[in-house]
Amino acid sequence: MVMGQARADESCGSSPLASSTFTPHRVVTYSRAHTLVPTYECFNRCTYCNFRTDPGQSPWVSLGQVARQMPLLHQQGVCEVLVLSGEVAPHSPRRADWLRHIYQICELALGAGLLPHTNAGPLSRDEMAQLQQVNVSMGLMVEQVTPSLLETVHRHAPSKRPEIRLQQLEWAGELGIPFTTGLLLGLGESESDWVDSLRAIATLHTRYGHIQEVILQPHSPGQQQLQRGTALAETALVQAVQLAKAHLPKNVAIQIPPNLVSREGLLACLEAGATDLGGLSPVDEVNPDYDHPTPESLRAAIAPAGWQLQPRLPIYPQYDPWLPSPLQPLVHTWRASQRGSRSEPVPSEYPN
Ligand code: SF4
Repeated sequence: MVMGQARADESCGSSPLASSTFTPHRVVTYSRAHTLVPTYECFNRCTYCNFRTDPGQSPWVSLGQVARQMPLLHQQGVCEVLVLSGEVAPHSPRRADWLRHIYQICELALGAGLLPHTNAGPLSRDEMAQLQQVNVSMGLMVEQVTPSLLETVHRHAPSKRPEIRLQQLEWAGELGIPFTTGLLLGLGESESDWVDSLRAIATLHTRYGHIQEVILQPHSPGQQQLQRGTALAETALVQAVQLAKAHLPKNVAIQIPPNLVSREGLLACLEAGATDLGGLSPVDEVNPDYDHPTPESLRAAIAPAGWQLQPRLPIYPQYDPWLPSPLQPLVHTWRASQRGSRSEPVPSEYPN
């Protein structure tokens, strides 16, 4: 099933909007998510980062705490657990423990009936294959493929070498992992760099068919970053959406973060081709100075322009057959739940 068909189907039977100017079936999606951070420690030092601490400075979240939290999230109607981790260096003696910890967090989420999506920076192929068993999808931002940023904002960030990040997308394709990637915009790159990055993603998707969505994330300065840059102009973000629409295959969703744009900018991005607002949890861990709006406030903001906000799962429907078989019943139950009552929690079906 192509994405456009899925959206049209899902919007059938919805209530008409109370505006004389609305266009029916203009659907934008989001995922009801909770971001879980195993650790903030990261061996990279990107100059714009508002997330990291130095290695050893961020105690890893305890599995007991996660085990207590997951059922509560489930009761609140959360569907996705976005496992977002700082990185332990590839050759560190702590790397295996770090990966095992992330794996166990995903198992706890599944055990509570929630759907994990992990983004933990570049992984080895074997690490990806391990996490594939306990994730319904995974992600890693390409950011930009130009190597010029390695001399500026990524001077002390070995994980940000473009070839490493493209290799992740390639391995995800080979392994059959539904994948989320994206561009970080406004770090000093040019518009032609955006096109190069979009084309690189499009090429890999054409080969493997595994890129479910591409995030266009505007740099938005925060209080903790080492070097304060300037925010990307909203007009530039709209332009990036137009370029993404022109260069990405039609079955790849274009996502923008609704907490990093004004309401006018959000509507302009939707008109330009954005189709998804990502995982909405109260706190944006990557941009902690910019809280996410609630789904209810977003729904009210976009409805007068004829847009309808609909929840989705962290795996797009066309990828369900790719899932490891132990994960399939849980995803199918969530699909059935969203077809019925879109906010009703579902019982856990994943064996502990
Ligand atoms: S942006 Fe990501 S990779 Fe860079 S320092 Fe922050 S957490 Fe680490």
